[in-house]
Amino acid sequence: MRIEFCGATTGVTGSCHKISTKEHSILLDCGQFQGGKDRDKLNYEDFPFDPKEIESMVLSHAHIDHCGRIPLLVKRGFTGNIYCTKATADLLPIMLRDSGYIHEKEAEWKTKKALEKGEEPVAPLYTVVDAERSLKYITPVRYNEEVEINDQMTIKFNDAGHILGSSILEVWISEDGEKKKLVFSGDLGMKHRPILKDPTTITEADYVVMETTYGNRLHPENVMSIDDLLKNILKTTERGGTVVIPSFAVGRTQEMIYELNKLYDNNPEVYSKLKNVKVYIDSPMATSATQVFKENPECFDKETKGYIERGDNPLDFKNLIFTKSTEDSKRLNINKEPKIIISASGMCEAGRIRHHLRHNLGNKKNSIIFVGYQAEYTLGRKLLNGADSVNLFGEEVQVNAEIVNLEGFSAHADRDALAEWVSSFKNNPRVFLVHGEDDAKKDFAKFIDDKFGIKPTVITENSGFDL
Ligand SMILES: [Zn+2]
Repeated sequence: MRIEFCGATTGVTGSCHKISTKEHSILLDCGQFQGGKDRDKLNYEDFPFDPKEIESMVLSHAHIDHCGRIPLLVKRGFTGNIYCTKATADLLPIMLRDSGYIHEKEAEWKTKKALEKGEEPVAPLYTVVDAERSLKYITPVRYNEEVEINDQMTIKFNDAGHILGSSILEVWISEDGEKKKLVFSGDLGMKHRPILKDPTTITEADYVVMETTYGNRLHPENVMSIDDLLKNILKTTERGGTVVIPSFAVGRTQEMIYELNKLYDNNPEVYSKLKNVKVYIDSPMATSATQVFKENPECFDKETKGYIERGDNPLDFKNLIFTKSTEDSKRLNINKEPKIIISASGMCEAGRIRHHLRHNLGNKKNSIIFVGYQAEYTLGRKLLNGADSVNLFGEEVQVNAEIVNLEGFSAHADRDALAEWVSSFKNNPRVFLVHGEDDAKKDFAKFIDDKFGIKPTVITENSGFDL
């Protein structure tokens, strides 16, 4: 038996690992490379295996850097089952269609540029139709259930606490009378995050493949407090302004709804102050994702289930409105009442949020509240850095609104949480570190060696190992 690391070996994106015996080959994840031109080029290269020879695939979660090349894999000949949790299966159509759409738009734009220079048109990595075609291979399975995927391999999905449906995978592999167990961390979440269950601690393994996104960083304690959020909402709405919250459509938006439900439906004193303030979710993707959350309550933690048991829907409240048409969306900018608009994309790079910024940045009564990480060079980061004006749709827009940073709950376990997770294995398994920048992997390797005497193998390029 053998493992080959085919992605997320030089950074955090493109997660893809192949496990094989003489008779069977499967993939763990098939993610897209992201983060600039050089990474993007990797997506167009041949896979380091023949997609036709991969029998099935096991998917840890629905983030694009873990699932984003599935349509491409199918386009190039893969026809096996794609095993994942039910919640992941429900999120995949939303994620992959959107990704196909983005690839089409990008190719259109690149083609326009290319034709101007007399060059060849650019084909998209895959299209919405390719994404649709790949969906028929999705095979949802239950958490905590052992599933035999061929006569040598059995898998089991465990909660990873990272996003809805995310999982840590256990894979048992038998060959030549030997049975080994491999644990794949997927992406690990932090404990005590809203809505989701905590990541599962696993104690037995022969091999562990783990992510190290935050391998050398610690999160500040409980970064987003609901009190700060409330204080800023009241300050803005009491002076007659609108609160605009850029938010990732899947995950962060549902956490915001969850927090606001506590204020609107569970705190009469606060409600009396906010009863005239409507909350609009203005992102078709966020609306669909919220529906998927509501349909998968088995993923919820105790606190969230508690609301349901008391008869309160934790993802809905009195003043919450999901906009439907683009007309509804446009109307939000004519309506001058104090309100809260939550819209995507989270870093303000695309989507309806850009229209809301254009209409709201100029008025000093308004505020823009950031609740998630803003990567370098994004519009969100520019606003956080105090830009006086920003370019939106070809025009310079003056920034007069108040800019507030309440960095939300991180979806990734930090160094100490990763270390705690890997130190729970009892029988000294061989550990492989992937899915991190080089420094994060190396620093984390040293940290767990110093602390627990674990000597991991740091993966820094595509490579294979006999198990
Ligand atoms: Zn992820």
